[in-house]
Amino acid sequence: MSRGILFIISAPSGTGKSSLIQEILKLKSLYNSQVSISHTTRIIRPGELHGKHYYFVSKKEFQRMIKQDSFLEYATVFNNYYGTSRQFIEKMLSSGIDIFLDIDWQGAKQIRYKMPESKSIFLLPPSKDILYKRLKKRGQDSETVIAKRMEKAVDEMQHYSEYDYLIINDDFKKSLDNLKTIIFAEHLCLIHQKNKFHVLISNLLQR
Ligand code: GDP
Ligand code: ADP
Ligand code: 5GP
Repeated sequence: MSRGILFIISAPSGTGKSSLIQEILKLKSLYNSQVSISHTTRIIRPGELHGKHYYFVSKKEFQRMIKQDSFLEYATVFNNYYGTSRQFIEKMLSSGIDIFLDIDWQGAKQIRYKMPESKSIFLLPPSKDILYKRLKKRGQDSETVIAKRMEKAVDEMQHYSEYDYLIINDDFKKSLDNLKTIIFAEHLCLIHQKNKFHVLISNLLQR
């Protein structure tokens, strides 16, 4: 069985990362993937569930996990810790399942260094105005939090060119098609095809 592919997705808050990833996860019968559930010290939003959206932990618990080297990467985003647990990723990839990481640019940089075979995708909103409207529409953050996220958006977007792929999330359906195209093309790369069809290839190459 060939290893799963690790896809990193970054974008300013409110661009549509979580919504796109959720749609990809629904393709189950066609394509098997999982999203990595991060640990975070930020407060839980209305509607969020511990163990589904995040593992919500205290700062003390997060720091204990850092000491135990439990994270493949971690970063401070909007004054809170966010981190990707190492154990889950390794287990899934070795079972041939693709993993999506919804992480910021600092985390993406750490993963690229540790796992150079990972593929990274940056999403941009069609305009700042639309980004603001999406954050408002989501209705989960206070005006102060939204203002802070808008301020941080430019910092995050400055890193777009460090990624392998770029999608402008204007029309949702088109963005989803673009994301699927990237995923399926990556699976056709020589390294994955060679692993998947090694028996066939060795038979074909016998004289
Ligand atoms: P959202 O951007 O509106 O979805 O807000 P979140 O609070 O869910 O995420 C805040 C930021 O933390 C985003 O930039 C995420 O990409 C980032 N993030 C989430 N999980 C992780 C993680 O495990 N590691 C790192 N490095 N960043 C993360
Ligand atoms: P992120 O995970 O990047 O913070 P979300 O997936 O939570 O972003 O999306 C933010 C809001 O924008 C949600 O209310 C979502 O339904 C909406 N949204 C996402 N993509 C689009 C799009 N292409 N067109 C219109 N609304 C969108
Ligand atoms: P939110 O608080 O809105 O859920 O997330 C804010 C930002 O944190 C998003 O840009 C998200 O991608 C990022 N983020 C979430 N989890 C992680 C993580 O585990 N690691 C890193 N580096 N960033 C994360």
